[in-house]
Amino acid sequence: MKIILLGPPGAGKGTQADILRKKLNIGKIATGDMLREAVASGTPLGKQVQDIMAKGHLVPDKTMIDVLFGRIHKADCALGFVLDGFPRTLAQAEALDRALAFEDAAIDRVIELKVDDEKLMKRIVGRYACAKCGAGYHDSFKRPMQAGVCDACGSKEFIRREDDKAQTVAKRLETYHMQTEPLLPYYRVQGKLLSVDGMAEIEEVARQIDEVMGMGKKNAKNS
Ligand SMILES: [Zn+2]
Repeated sequence: MKIILLGPPGAGKGTQADILRKKLNIGKIATGDMLREAVASGTPLGKQVQDIMAKGHLVPDKTMIDVLFGRIHKADCALGFVLDGFPRTLAQAEALDRALAFEDAAIDRVIELKVDDEKLMKRIVGRYACAKCGAGYHDSFKRPMQAGVCDACGSKEFIRREDDKAQTVAKRLETYHMQTEPLLPYYRVQGKLLSVDGMAEIEEVARQIDEVMGMGKKNAKNS
């Protein structure tokens, strides 16, 4: 089973990719991890990626596909894979389809995690963590029991990630709408697109994915 997860950053793709990896015994490929592994491998391709990233350039689509195909030929992807963070543009989606077709393969399912921009913004921007033990909190949804004091370790210092700031999140959402959303009709006409409510709780999103993929019965039998 070859699956692509689509949704803006913060929609929970990584979490759902983990769940699918375990459930289907397939490889999970997150773009960031994949590029880091490629660099760490020290292969000629890895060195090429390292040079590109050291210069602060974006990794070209052709190189991404080469790295990806190195990754999907590893043992953990024998039964398939779930992609988190690739493809991000129509050109990448087309390049991926062409490369897979060359191996007589194809993407089976594309799962869209539908989000509400405003709610997602609130969810991400409110996040912060204890600077000492890393316990996670949220301005609206999970405050410490005693204001300003970590429940877990008593520390009074907290940190907010640069990635979680409103301006950064807004920019990433805009990029998603402009560059990645055109992939939805692209996969819809291929009959591969499935959509779930990405704003629901993690377990509910996982349940909806099971449902749209028709995995419900199988799981009931296994449990
Ligand atoms: Zn703490």
